[in-house]
Amino acid sequence: MWICENLSVSPEGRLTFAGQDTVILAEKYGTPLMLLDETRIRQRCRVYLQTMREVFGADALPLYASKALCFKGLYRIMKEEGMGIDLVSSGELYTAVQAGYPLEFAYFHGNNKTDADIRYAMEEGIGYFICDNSDELDAVNAEAGRQKIRQKVLLRLTPGIDPHTHRAISTGKVDSKFGVAIETGQAKEFVRHALALPHVQLMGYHCHIGSQIFEYKPFTDAAEIMLRFLAQMKHDFGYEAGELNLGGGMGVRYIASQPQIDYAANIAGIGKIMKDLCAKLNVTMPRILMEPGRSIVADSGLTLYTVGGIKRIPGFKNYVSVDGGMSDNPRYALYQSDYTVVVADRPLAEADGRYTVAGRCCESGDLIQENVLLSSPRKGDRLAVFTTGAYNYSMSSNYNRIPRPPIVWIAEDGADTLAVRRESFEDMVKNEL
Ligand SMILES: *Cc1c(COP(=O)(O)O)cnc(C)c1O
Repeated sequence: MWICENLSVSPEGRLTFAGQDTVILAEKYGTPLMLLDETRIRQRCRVYLQTMREVFGADALPLYASKALCFKGLYRIMKEEGMGIDLVSSGELYTAVQAGYPLEFAYFHGNNKTDADIRYAMEEGIGYFICDNSDELDAVNAEAGRQKIRQKVLLRLTPGIDPHTHRAISTGKVDSKFGVAIETGQAKEFVRHALALPHVQLMGYHCHIGSQIFEYKPFTDAAEIMLRFLAQMKHDFGYEAGELNLGGGMGVRYIASQPQIDYAANIAGIGKIMKDLCAKLNVTMPRILMEPGRSIVADSGLTLYTVGGIKRIPGFKNYVSVDGGMSDNPRYALYQSDYTVVVADRPLAEADGRYTVAGRCCESGDLIQENVLLSSPRKGDRLAVFTTGAYNYSMSSNYNRIPRPPIVWIAEDGADTLAVRRESFEDMVKNEL
């Protein structure tokens, strides 16, 4: 049951997270409530940063993928830890600016940056654009010309890898809304185009093959395709790219049957294969970037709910209803994601049956998880859902006018502090005339 080291049980038999009694925190802040383990987030940043520097050299940089979880306090941590960031919208950019994050270390992603996004990001001094297509490259070149700068760019390429994760979170195949395919020859034309533009400085290439990948091989396969392409462009155009961004996607353990990934070992393994390849292809190892999102924040997050009622339907299912749902965690509704759920008041008590954990939204598909073994949940119990740090709060909504939950940090010394307030009803109507 204990899928992560930051979970344990108090002497009173209640669930603890990052050393703190979750039931007491639920009482203090109310539910639904998201807790974040600050120490663990910092540790993960350090694993990426230190290992990448050891393996690839001092200029290697992990970029935290903002879409996994984005709020000002998190950007302050990324700044303190020396992490780069990637972002995909002016809204994320604005949040980073508000947090005082130095934008020279920020990379702007996305398959449809608007002209307004491009102008705003450049005015704020964004480090790089990761250009998705030729139209965008022209737009970046034009805006850089207007602002009289030379804008650094990477080109997003699709290496044609299918990492066998869920269809919706696999992105590296030829048929993808993201990037330009190597296989079709279009990537080569993309490079030719970038090299011909006066106001962009082509720094290198990017690929991202998908998410929640446990195997190690898809990354080295992608790296090999990218390095071969780099060598080919050196041959064809005399252009040897200085940077290679391998994207994000390393998996995270949500349930006991999934492995715990050793990220440092993975990075070291990828590095070794890449060094051998560079020697073989007679190219210099480029500066390496990676874009971890989920593996930085997912298992540093935990969601607490209060049970409203239990419905036992003879011959069918048992439903246990909680005071949140797809409004704070749409992932089961979207892709039947796995989660571990326990009764926080007595996580070690023996289970009496299987339950479908249902949210409070008016939608039959609003489930958090099905077939969960629980020890006779009762009205007023707290349910804890583990590993909710990534793609929960960032994907939350006000569906059914349910306010977003607050986020509470748990610091190394055990202190709990509010990072994001609970949304109020006033917040929800403030733009309405
Ligand atoms: C989603 C995404 C990431 C982060 O993926 P994780 O699985 O959260 O590590 C990184 N880069 C790009 C381009 C992405 O789309």
